[in-house]
Amino acid sequence: MATRPVHPQTEAALARRWSELPAGAQTASQTLGRHAVGCEGTHGVFPKCNLACTPCYHSRDANRVAVSGEHTRTQVSEQMSLLRRIRGPRAHAQLIGGEVTLLPPDDHAATLQIMRDAGREPMSMTHGDFDYDYLEAVALGADGRARLPRLSFAGHFDMLMFGRRGIERPDDEASLHPYRRRFTEMFARLKREHGVRYFLAHNMTVTPRNVDQIADVVQQCHGYGFGMFSFQPAAFVGDDRRWHDEYRDISADAVWAQIELGAGTRLPFRVFQNGDERCNRTAYGFYVGDRWYPILDDRIPVDLRVRDTFFRHLGGVNFSGTPIPLLIIKVARVIARHPSVAMVFAGWTARMIRSVGGWKLLSSKIRPVSFVMHSFMDAEDVAPAWEAMQRGEELTDPRLRATQERLQACSYAMAHPETGELVPACVQHGVLDPGQNVALRKLLPLAPVTSQRIRHDVPVTGGGRAGRDV
Ligand code: SF4
Repeated sequence: MATRPVHPQTEAALARRWSELPAGAQTASQTLGRHAVGCEGTHGVFPKCNLACTPCYHSRDANRVAVSGEHTRTQVSEQMSLLRRIRGPRAHAQLIGGEVTLLPPDDHAATLQIMRDAGREPMSMTHGDFDYDYLEAVALGADGRARLPRLSFAGHFDMLMFGRRGIERPDDEASLHPYRRRFTEMFARLKREHGVRYFLAHNMTVTPRNVDQIADVVQQCHGYGFGMFSFQPAAFVGDDRRWHDEYRDISADAVWAQIELGAGTRLPFRVFQNGDERCNRTAYGFYVGDRWYPILDDRIPVDLRVRDTFFRHLGGVNFSGTPIPLLIIKVARVIARHPSVAMVFAGWTARMIRSVGGWKLLSSKIRPVSFVMHSFMDAEDVAPAWEAMQRGEELTDPRLRATQERLQACSYAMAHPETGELVPACVQHGVLDPGQNVALRKLLPLAPVTSQRIRHDVPVTGGGRAGRDV
């Protein structure tokens, strides 16, 4: 069983995921149900944040909820159990709330371990404004040794965030580059000093204010150490006091064109599709020097055959969470049954060497970097679409119908152990968060303040380290 290429529970979870997809999403490029069940995230744990973003997808009560390590651990444990039960033994899950580094380091580490124990590869979602001491305290146990084999963090950096230490109100994206670099350097130091491996993603909200600065962010920061650059066009969701622009003025194509400009090449996002194309675009590849290469190109038929072979014979294999020796045995078992797989991938390897250049591959470092665009939906569309779905009703209004299709093919789920339900993150943030945060405010009230100035409400126009003084 241990060396079996695909765990039977994974096989069952993938088959169920595929069968639940709307017909329009059951395409040759679809990863859900063939390679992954989709990404997962926590909710209702620590909604508070100490920066102010415009926009912010959190409801207005989020900053009135105290951060509790015990509450976080209990809730995450229950949510992960449900995800484990419904979606099988392996998945990627985000430890997400408000700001994850407001958790005491021991609680942060314990929560990551809870997620790992449930078979999840956890990623901590942060604004990145914390110090090396905190990172070290999360990574190391009382004996000074690494307590987690690997850390994954997503750092969110953009000029629409206010209150970052040293740069309370960024003028532009370029002025944040030193802060992006500082973030990645902390992890490089952790690896150097303590041998803790890491994966880093860079997240950025996109509005008409910063869309034309995306290319510069990619050009300047691709070598900092991020393994993924993810861009999220803003949606009308969360705290409406922080909606300042007409977010629909920018199209998905315009955002993607900027990312391509930064990467200096076309980014083929139709090889692999995660859920619905209106929600997600992803291009997988790597840098050699300053040049980015896709692992597969959606215009090249032989590349698409490699993808199809991968899905058919290796799709269910868990590549990222399996120790290398065990992974080699699993792949060997696949090849023993299907020797043609080895030929297909040998051909692919030869083509990659030809395309990049053998000498370049030998003399330069290969840096895997993927580009992602994730477009959340507006709460005013999600609410009626979801309500109708709960009644088993298919809406006919084209906009709401599209919303329902996207929710059905959602690649980012959150678990509700109290109902046994999984909900798309769009539903969580657009429909459920406001009520949930009101309840959390009563359950976890902020401690009374005696001598400090109270700043519960995050300033709408920025200019302060909101919440930090509370
Ligand atoms: S969370 Fe929303 S935008 Fe993201 S994949 Fe799910 S439905 Fe699409």
